[in-house]
Order: sequence, then C-alpha cells, then structure tokens
Amino acid sequence: MPELPEVEVLVRHLAPLLNGRKVRTVLVNRAKELTPTTPRQLTQALLGAEFCGVARRGKYLLFELRRTKRAAPRTLVGHLGMTGRMYLLPAQAPLPKHAAVVLGLGRENFIFEDTRYFGRLTLDASALERLGPEPLGPDFTVRSFADALARSRQPIKLKLLDQSLAAGVGNIYASEALFRAGIAPGLQARKLRRAQVKQLWQAIREVLGEAIECGSTVPLNFVGQGKCDGLFYFGRAPGAPDYYEERLRVYDRAGRPCPECGTTIKRRVQAGRSTFYCPNCQRG
Ligand SMILES: [Zn+2]
Repeated sequence: MPELPEVEVLVRHLAPLLNGRKVRTVLVNRAKELTPTTPRQLTQALLGAEFCGVARRGKYLLFELRRTKRAAPRTLVGHLGMTGRMYLLPAQAPLPKHAAVVLGLGRENFIFEDTRYFGRLTLDASALERLGPEPLGPDFTVRSFADALARSRQPIKLKLLDQSLAAGVGNIYASEALFRAGIAPGLQARKLRRAQVKQLWQAIREVLGEAIECGSTVPLNFVGQGKCDGLFYFGRAPGAPDYYEERLRVYDRAGRPCPECGTTIKRRVQAGRSTFYCPNCQRG
C-alpha cells in the first residue's frame, strides 16, 4: 500500500503535468470511489475547471481546481487505497479495464485506476480533519511525539499506524523506523524511554526522507507494469532495476538475514497487520 513517500513522489510527478490543464470531460466508472460525492456532483464541480495545484497531506493527494482565475479553488481529495494508480495516458490509448475515473484533458486523459476499489477520488475533505502532523513538517516535534506516546497503551508498532500521531506513516515505514531505532514492535508505546522516543522520531523522519529521495530517482512511466512495480503502484519502466525494495531493511524480508547482524528476520501479526523485525537488533 502506498504511504507518505510514494504519494509525495507521485504528487511531485503529477504537479507539473496537471497544472494549467483544463478538465473537458468527466467519466466515472466506479461511483463507489467518489463516496459521498456523486458522479453528478463531481462532473458539475470539475467540468471546465483548471488544475492549479497538486499537494499532499498524509497519504492523500490534494488536487486544486478552479473555474476562473478569480474563483476560489475546489479541492479534489485522492487516496490510492491498496492498488490505486493515478497517471496520464494519451487520449487515443484504450482505457484500462479498472479505470475508476477518467478526466479528459484534451490530448491526454488523467486516469484513476484501481483494481481493488479501496481508493478514493472525492470532493469530501472530512478525512483530512482527523490527520495529525506531517512527520517531515515543523509540527512533528520530539515533544509532541513523546506526549502522544505517553498516553498510549498500544504496542508501539500499532500506535505508529495511528494517522493522528504522524500522518502518512503506514505498515512499511513503521517496521522500517522501529528497526532503525532498535525498538521491539511489541513494546507498549508509553514504555518507551526518552532516548528511544528521540531515536524513533529521528528514524521516522529518516526512513521517509530517504524513501522520497530514492523514489524521486525511479523512472516513472505512468502505467503500472505488473509484478515489478513492487511498492510503487503508480508504475515504473519494465526492466528498471528494483531500487526501491532493495533499500527496505526488514519489511517483507522474513526468513532473510538481518542486514546489521545476520539474525533471521521475523514476521509477526499485530492487529491483523504484518510486522517485520530483527529479534536481535530490536530487543528494547
Ligand atoms: Zn539484526
């Protein structure tokens, strides 16, 4: 599932391609993915409007559109869910089978494709209200992080998935950050020592920052290419090296040696989600 870095890379990729483009047609194949917006509301809001900004909040993509230069922009909120992709496709190319929403931009179509239908493209921005600070932003401080952890009886791995703690951290980067900080995923959040809180805060920022940097070097070709997409659901050139997955240290590497100590990496399930960790490096 795409997390903060994947969405950030996608936003940076899409922004220059979309800014200034006008929506000429709106096609909705999967009305469910607009919920609670209806296809009619979406069409009314977007038809004739121009993209004037693409941004990110947590794992959400925020598309700003306006009808005239003086009109207030409207925000279209996107979420990739499990398998969502957003990309431009030449207008003459056949539409992909799972195209949920297609915005005609003239020579190209903006495609929101989703094979498993957990994604969203909606005018409803209420989901954003529940988000905590951006982990790479100034509001995510060691102090605020420590305060939030001190109030939680959850295992630290599960607490990290709480979007009100740090928006955009998901299963992959929670495992990676805990490994980097040397913290056992089952440790109760409020039991972290002060030094561990600081290390984890730092590790979260590092793993996210490095993933964005790494993702920025991955060649994107808009349309997904199957199994080699790995974690970049929005696509990569066929045969391009697997830069991205190689840099994950523990995630999805159960049974392989820990890159630090050689101990076999373990997988455990916490609240239905897989956690990957090194039982030797992550004792505390
Ligand atoms: Zn280890």
